Amino acid sequence: MTGTPGHVWLVGAGPGDPGLITVAGLAALRHAEVVLYDRLAPHELLAEAPEGALLLDAGKAADNHAMTQEQINAALVEHGLAGQRVVRLKGGDPYVFGRGGEEAMALADAGVPCTVIPGVTSAIGGLAAGGVPVTHRAVATSFAVITGHEDPTKPETQVDWARLATAVDTLVVLMGVGRLQEIARALIEGGRDASTPAALVEQATTSKQRTVTATLATIAEAAQREDVRAPALLVVGQVAALQPMLDPRRLAPLAGKRVLVTRSRAQASTLVDALRLEGAYPLMLPAIEIEHRIDAKAVDRVTTDLRARAFRWVVFTSTNGVEVFLDALQEAGADARAFAGARICALGIATAAALADHGLIADLVPADAVGEAVVTSLLAQGDLSGARVLLPRAEGARDVLPDGLRAAGAEVDEVTLYLAAAPAEPPQEVLDAIRAGDVDAVTFTSSSTVKNLATLLGGDLSPLRGTVVACIGPVTAETARSFGLEPDAVAAEHTIEGLMAALRESLHSGRTDAAKEVR
Ligand code: SAH
Repeated sequence: MTGTPGHVWLVGAGPGDPGLITVAGLAALRHAEVVLYDRLAPHELLAEAPEGALLLDAGKAADNHAMTQEQINAALVEHGLAGQRVVRLKGGDPYVFGRGGEEAMALADAGVPCTVIPGVTSAIGGLAAGGVPVTHRAVATSFAVITGHEDPTKPETQVDWARLATAVDTLVVLMGVGRLQEIARALIEGGRDASTPAALVEQATTSKQRTVTATLATIAEAAQREDVRAPALLVVGQVAALQPMLDPRRLAPLAGKRVLVTRSRAQASTLVDALRLEGAYPLMLPAIEIEHRIDAKAVDRVTTDLRARAFRWVVFTSTNGVEVFLDALQEAGADARAFAGARICALGIATAAALADHGLIADLVPADAVGEAVVTSLLAQGDLSGARVLLPRAEGARDVLPDGLRAAGAEVDEVTLYLAAAPAEPPQEVLDAIRAGDVDAVTFTSSSTVKNLATLLGGDLSPLRGTVVACIGPVTAETARSFGLEPDAVAAEHTIEGLMAALRESLHSGRTDAAKEVR
């Protein structure tokens, strides 16, 4: 890297939800060699840095104390001069009470090129997420963003509370939770009506977001009663009175709901994206890890037979089956042409879609993907006696399908490809959230997700009794019942969209709202 000039990007990471970084910020992060991140920057974003990037915690140096601003500036300059691509990841917007200006100046003084990538500031975006619009027609036409944390080394206060009190319609105070009493008093003394609506938004845009509403006179007391802690935003003005109407949970059924996703990490993204788009917070507890259990000899044998057009049908029962089998086929030196002589049956449209991604269009997608019905659908396509059927599948899968096919006279070749097992190291914070009852809904996308979650929870699903239970289909629902968990919703269409529809409906029915009230 010597000789190449370094560059520092001051990136605003947004208020907390990792999805609120900008496209430009994410691009910078994905090309970083060094990332120096703040406590308030969402740590999930660090996973976006390239593998091997140096990750430096500016909030916690080796001795467990925050790096001083001088140390941060020095580190940025040092890595920049060394020719590295450095991302300085800061909460919210880099220039809103983030000392970003000082960092840019230090870099300019040292001759290190620097680019500022603005971010969504909590002062505006965090409030919006909490249901408070910073302006509103006929209610607020101006706002001010104020620091509630005075530099203690300064002899007199820099913030002129008396002048600000009535200068603008909406007052947004950052870093003010520790001195709400003093701030409210100063504003009232400055002439702001004590009955002015006020609100606090704690941990805005995260799964722990909470909103407390009161008046200027009572907000400090309300904060104490509700134990509001930093980071939180104080907003004073008529817009705060709109909060109950614009509370995100009132605007969409999934908003603010903590939804447990039990699919494997590799498969979770469609559901996770769908949940996030509707304002839910997916809690990922991959109850399944796909362990490859490929019997290379068996794969070689069936590949030869497949190419020799020996199979009448190949039946894929899951997207994992498709992915692992096609990989194994490739390893064995074959490609999609190997299927030329066979007809393909896919259980479920997700499985059919996975095949389509590999250029294979399923000949049959039974309307009902449950074992017994599949045999009936296949029989409807013609007699199976003496027909060879290839069945790539998971270790420990149910025997209904192969048994049914054999009963119909077929010769079934089962190739075991993978094991859907419980992960060795489940995320502890998610297990804790389940045990503490901090989960609004749980989603099960297969029977193995049910079984493995039970294993992860010590053999017992009872900690989930108070939550909404949503299953992708009847077999999964039956498995949930066998573990003592009555499903609230079973997807009519056995897809992620079907599961989302079921979730919307049962969360809308208000069951969890009632549960939340009790908590
Ligand atoms: N540059 C940041 C602000 C840094 S000052 C920005 O533009 O948002 C830190 C203060 O910001 C906190 O004390 C708190 O008042 C506020 N803040 C930041 N993130 C927040 C969040 N997710 N929820 C509530 N307040 C937040």
